[in-house]
Amino acid sequence: RPPGSFINAANTDFTIATNRTAQKAALKDFETRHLGKRWPCIVNGKKITNRAFIASVNPARPAQIIGYWAQGTVQDADEAVAASVAFFPQWRATPVDVRASILETAAEIMETRRLEINSLLILEAAKPWLEADGDTSEAIDFLRFYASEIRRIVTPVVTQDVPGEHCVQTWSPRGVGIAVAPWNFPLAILTGLTVAPLVAGNCVIIKPARQTSIIGAYLMNILREAGVPAGALHFLPCSGADAGAHLVAHPQVDFIAFTGSREVGLNIWQEAGKTKAGQINLKKVVCEMGGKNAMIIDTDADLDEAIPAVIYSAFGFAGQKCSALSRLIVLETIYDRFVGRLLSACPAIPVGDPSQPGTIVNPVIDEGAQKSILAYIEAGRQECHLAWQGTLPPHLRETGGYYVPPCIFTNCRPTDRIVREEIFGPVLAILKAKDLDEAFEMANANDYALTGGFFSRSPAAIDRAKTEQLVGNLYINRGCTGAVVQRHPFGGFKMSGGGTKAGGREYLENFLFPRLIAENV
Ligand code: GLU
Repeated sequence: RPPGSFINAANTDFTIATNRTAQKAALKDFETRHLGKRWPCIVNGKKITNRAFIASVNPARPAQIIGYWAQGTVQDADEAVAASVAFFPQWRATPVDVRASILETAAEIMETRRLEINSLLILEAAKPWLEADGDTSEAIDFLRFYASEIRRIVTPVVTQDVPGEHCVQTWSPRGVGIAVAPWNFPLAILTGLTVAPLVAGNCVIIKPARQTSIIGAYLMNILREAGVPAGALHFLPCSGADAGAHLVAHPQVDFIAFTGSREVGLNIWQEAGKTKAGQINLKKVVCEMGGKNAMIIDTDADLDEAIPAVIYSAFGFAGQKCSALSRLIVLETIYDRFVGRLLSACPAIPVGDPSQPGTIVNPVIDEGAQKSILAYIEAGRQECHLAWQGTLPPHLRETGGYYVPPCIFTNCRPTDRIVREEIFGPVLAILKAKDLDEAFEMANANDYALTGGFFSRSPAAIDRAKTEQLVGNLYINRGCTGAVVQRHPFGGFKMSGGGTKAGGREYLENFLFPRLIAENV
């Protein structure tokens, strides 16, 4: 394929019976053959096995242990940085084509093991089938997209065509960095944060989220199998407060690629700003944090389209996406009709075990998340009106799974806690707006600016949304989750992040220094 051309991976069609049978068999096979293994840290190609091993469990059945991961130490972190610093000149000098081909090989490996990887996502992150398969597709897309982008970027660009001087802009990798990833897209986001800097010629240390470290170990193995050299990539699951913080502050760490909570992101942003003795580069931080995303339902919205989009955006994967819908702003004249139809559709939302193909609302990631979301539901009961709450099928109550009933609150005001704060769970707050002015004001009155939705059939209203609804990703007449690599570059501003766009054309530039070369000819 020529540089710059790219095609998205196709998701599995689970409406086809043979695909469902194959995914079921893969899940069963995973449970019989792969559970309970011990996954070491990998530094400079060496497996580190004499560390504390931490169990990773299935959030739907916490008694089921998916595997054990070795907890990396500060000393391991220092070794990973030293090995990276030593290997960097060689990796930087490796032809771009070689680096890009390694990513393309990794994409092929993931494609051939898709159902096995889906199974791990279903088991370790409690992802429903469609979400697990989408996560795998997105990881494959990141590999292929960044491979094609580096091939495009590497061609020097003439800055100005003048006689007597040949002037080009080129790019150089920054050095050594860490990829700090969340558990909610444990494969896709981890892959993106790792392979974008890697293919650009940097050495990378992977720090996966604690809850999904086994998926991180899988990614590491696939990348090594695809040909990433030992010195260029290290796998260091570890405590964020200990070895993780040490890496962020390390003078020889040149960049941090982060997606996760606002609290951790702001901390990294601040720490990276402190220059240490021996530090040669200013640290670059790519920081993607939370969202408190609003969707506006205009008076003439097509309700047949809007209702399923609202339900999936708010409750898919139990609302555990920074893109998820959590504030629904409905125009007064359509309010009763819209809310009435929405509430009558809700009892059909499948809440349950993610190992079943139809599940939409799965258990949340762990007990801490469950407690925090239940506390928000309680706050909602105090401040607003609980208009609907889902129920869990009785046979799932004994599993100990971290289920949270999906909830819809009405009578919400902009000042209520559940309207202001990110919940990261299946909780939707509905607000009533008297007109579009008030709707845009409500939508923008928040600390975050990540995704937003707008449903309307009026071209004039849609034009207003395009300029007045200020978010990183605005989705018109469709749901507000599920960004597709290249088509929907993903990322926001305000407290949602630093304005970078994962899966977008400029993304690799975050991991490169621009250089100008002017030659008298
Ligand atoms: N990119 C994902 C989406 O568009 C969300 C990523 C996240 O939750 O961090 O739904």
